[in-house]
Formats: sequence, structure tokens, C-alpha cells
Amino acid sequence: MSDNPSRLELLRFTRRVVEQQARASLRQLDRWIANEERQEAERRQSEERRPPPPEWWIERGLDRTSLVAVHTGDCWDPGKRRMPATREQALDALRQQVPACSKCRPDTVLRFME
Ligand SMILES: [Zn+2]
Repeated sequence: MSDNPSRLELLRFTRRVVEQQARASLRQLDRWIANEERQEAERRQSEERRPPPPEWWIERGLDRTSLVAVHTGDCWDPGKRRMPATREQALDALRQQVPACSKCRPDTVLRFME
């Protein structure tokens, strides 16, 4: 019987050390993964909260019932009394002689799309 650890004891000791290191690495990785998942979820939520810009605007007159102009969604001057409109609503308005904005020319864009 010697005081020196046997080869088998050394191997078992080494196995415990490696196991502890592996567990610590896994805990660290799990923290990184959880962190990344939380950030990803936050990014998704903030994207969902932001409504997409409308494709078209219809501008109303001062009386709020008459329609005074049709604009594209990215017009720089769609007026203060604008309401978001679908492509169909914008086309309908143009067919009903609502003037097309002279700045963004929605009539040209819509005709081009047809
Ligand atoms: Zn416009």
C-alpha cells in the first residue's frame, strides 16, 4: 500500500475536475442563450408594436367629409387631415375625380401598377 494516489484515483479525480468545468461552461452558455433569447424577443415585440406605414393617404377637406387629394404613402406633404388608405381606396378616389397630389403623383404610380 503506497501513499501515492493510484492511476485509477487520478483518473477519477481528473474526471470530477473536467465535469465541474463542463458544468460551469454549460451554465455560462445557458446564460448567454437566455440573454440572446430575451433580446431577440424584445426586438420582435418592438417591431410588432410599430405599425407599417400605409401605402396610400387620402386627404380630407376642412369639412372632414369631402376628399381633396390622394397621396402615395411616402408623400412628403400628405396634409394634416389625411387618413390611411388601401390601394383600392386610392384608386376609387381617383376614379371619383378626387385630385391626385401634384407632388407625389399617385395617379402615375397606380396606373403604372395596373
Ligand atoms: Zn402627395
